[in-house]
Amino acid sequence: MNALIPLHEEILACRRCEAEGFILPAAPVVSGPVMSRIMLIGQAPGRVELVERRPFQGKAGRVLFTWLRSVGIHEDEFRESVYMTAITKCFPGPAAGGNGDRRPSAREIALCRPFLDRQLEIVRPAVILLVGGLAIERFLPKAPLADLVGRRIEQDGRMYIPLPHPSGASRWLNHPEHKELLARAMEQVRDAWTGLGESRGEDVRQRTVVAAGA
Ligand code: SF4
Repeated sequence: MNALIPLHEEILACRRCEAEGFILPAAPVVSGPVMSRIMLIGQAPGRVELVERRPFQGKAGRVLFTWLRSVGIHEDEFRESVYMTAITKCFPGPAAGGNGDRRPSAREIALCRPFLDRQLEIVRPAVILLVGGLAIERFLPKAPLADLVGRRIEQDGRMYIPLPHPSGASRWLNHPEHKELLARAMEQVRDAWTGLGESRGEDVRQRTVVAAGA
């Protein structure tokens, strides 16, 4: 906890991407219980998170929590137990074509990477849910989404569960076979959630939620 609070303060004060002209304004989002055994890593906050300063508050969040509810995991419980973060911590702005949010550039990802590395060092999650292609690329060897979603991947002493992004910007989920892969992936999330139940209970008792605007 002692290490995570100053790190969150450092992230919240960061204006690197604003200073380099990528975004205006920088509004970093951080949120999570200190002792989480599960970490969720998305792409970047969206325009709703820019205002609310909590991860997955907008449309993508509604879809994500619908997926979780389908395997018996409820939003409040999830937010209390899971450390939620992203590859970059600030809203990158809309995509040029108007379809969803802009994918952060390689430079923005590099600028933000030390924060994610330190979050991982401090939280040391046993399970990481990778939400969307950018998060998946950061941790797993390159492969089509259909070869990854529905699989549990053990690597570096952790379990990774890749998920498609729930933003709706991609048509990947329109394919019936991909819906089946998603259902399998959510069963894996449920199994990991259930398997970590005892220690998750401890985490909730010890939790200190450090969130922007909280
Ligand atoms: S995205 Fe990361 S590096 Fe860029 S301004 Fe936000 S917190 Fe800083």
